Amino acid sequence: MTAPRPDETDIYLPRPATLIETESLTAHERFFRFEMDAGVELSYRPGQFLEISMPGFGECPISISSAPSAGGDRGFELVVRRVGNVTRALHGLEPGDRIGVRGPFGAPFPVEDALTGHDLLFICGGLGLVPLRSAINYVLNRRDDYGEVTVLLGARTPADRLFTRELYAWKLRDDLVLEETVDAADPSWGAHVGVITKLIPRLKLAPENTRALICGPPIMYRFVLKELEKQGMSAEHIYLSLERRMKCGVGKCGHCQINGLYTCRQGPVFKYADIAAVREAI
Ligand SMILES: Cc1cc2nc3c(=O)[nH]c(=O)nc-3n(C[C@H](O)[C@H](O)[C@H](O)COP(=O)(O)OP(=O)(O)OC[C@H]3O[C@@H](n4cnc5c(N)ncnc54)[C@H](O)[C@@H]3O)c2cc1C
Repeated sequence: MTAPRPDETDIYLPRPATLIETESLTAHERFFRFEMDAGVELSYRPGQFLEISMPGFGECPISISSAPSAGGDRGFELVVRRVGNVTRALHGLEPGDRIGVRGPFGAPFPVEDALTGHDLLFICGGLGLVPLRSAINYVLNRRDDYGEVTVLLGARTPADRLFTRELYAWKLRDDLVLEETVDAADPSWGAHVGVITKLIPRLKLAPENTRALICGPPIMYRFVLKELEKQGMSAEHIYLSLERRMKCGVGKCGHCQINGLYTCRQGPVFKYADIAAVREAI
């Protein structure tokens, strides 16, 4: 029997990382900053995800929320919504505790090639801000390489907004337009109320030069895509991140398949033109 090649075994082998900092963002979501063990670097791109393992509980895919630096990174940031076994265990971690990390996996947003030189429109629904934050901060770190940058954000209520301090800093910038909306406001809320789609016709888009990056709950995509088409945007210029139930993360188990597409390998980021005709993708 021949021994497996290292690149065939490594994809299944979690590597240790230590929790450096954690903070509650909302009633259900927590922020985490981890660091890989000394000597190990993650080389990731915006839009990719990690398989995070908690011994005794299991493993689940979580998007990387930090922006990569120019070289490799030991540190990385996550935001985790508490929904079940693994995510509940992650919420119980304290600084100094350790997790296992596989990845990074998946196709990223093409921030380095297809997007440079263009106006960018980020459309983030709820937890969709988590992977898009990686791309937004990547772009802000290289601001001169891109045209106009617009970020549309939707949350259920003001209390569900993530990264409020960072949003405030974005709001103060004169090289980024941030428009926010919530489904249900409270008396403190001073911005829009209603679905995120309603923000799109208010923008002055140059559809030929704009590239849209979208991530949010499944229900959001159909309406947002219809609105972008109405604004004259081509399916060739729209990138979206799809979430499906995943297990292995590396295109072996088939759990995340959509009619022959492996969301974990060919996605989670897809160009809309490539999946518009795939049944059940959107
Ligand atoms: C590419 C990718 C990136 C992701 N990024 C993030 C992230 O940044 N932050 C984050 O909090 N979550 C993210 N998720 C979702 C996360 O993986 C699930 O919430 C997690 O697997 C739940 O594990 P659990 O053991 O805690 O819950 P389980 O006990 O497995 O499930 C609890 C409940 O959640 C439901 N559920 C589990 N997984 C999914 C899913 N993928 N879609 C819809 N419902 C699900 C189950 O049906 C059940 O009702 C991502 C998923 C994918 C595929």
